[in-house]
Amino acid sequence: MRLILLGPPGAGKGTQAAGIVKKYHIPHISTGDIFRKNIKEGTELGKKAKEYMDQGLLVPDELVVAIVEERLKEPDCRDGFLLDGFPRTVEQAKSLDKVLATMDVALDSVINIEVDKEILVNRAVGRRICKDCGATYHIEFNPPQKEGICDECGGSLYQRADDNEETVSTRVEVYLKQTQPLIDYYTKQGILITIDGQQPIDKVFEDIVNALGA
Ligand SMILES: [Zn+2]
Repeated sequence: MRLILLGPPGAGKGTQAAGIVKKYHIPHISTGDIFRKNIKEGTELGKKAKEYMDQGLLVPDELVVAIVEERLKEPDCRDGFLLDGFPRTVEQAKSLDKVLATMDVALDSVINIEVDKEILVNRAVGRRICKDCGATYHIEFNPPQKEGICDECGGSLYQRADDNEETVSTRVEVYLKQTQPLIDYYTKQGILITIDGQQPIDKVFEDIVNALGA
């Protein structure tokens, strides 16, 4: 199963990704992770990427694609993969199609988890994190037993500075604007699966599995 996972920040992509890779026995390929790995191991591609990042520049598409390509050609991707964080643009999507064509394979599905902006804002604004152990809570959906205190370790809970309405709202709007062309691209290819991410986590996963039909 060759898949791409799309969804705005806060849509619960991480949890769903973990479930998908476990069920279908495919690697989770997060571009953030493979970038960090290449840089840490000092590969040629990693060194080049680091030069751009050190200057605060965006890593050019060719380099991003090359790093993803190398990863997709590793043996554990032979029977499939779940791409997360790539592609971000239609140009990258086209390059990915070309890379896969050289490998004689193609994408099966693009899973798009949809959640209304208001709900994403509400989820983020109510999030509380333990200062000591990092456990996360939500004042409405997953409150600690004692207000402001971590159930796990008794540490005090805090709210991240960027978990405020304005920041989250902007983050989601930017994401949606950037992603729409990609959604259109995969819709035209007939491989886009739209999933209602506003349901309970288990139901979202069930819908993904049903949509993949395997
Ligand atoms: Zn704690």
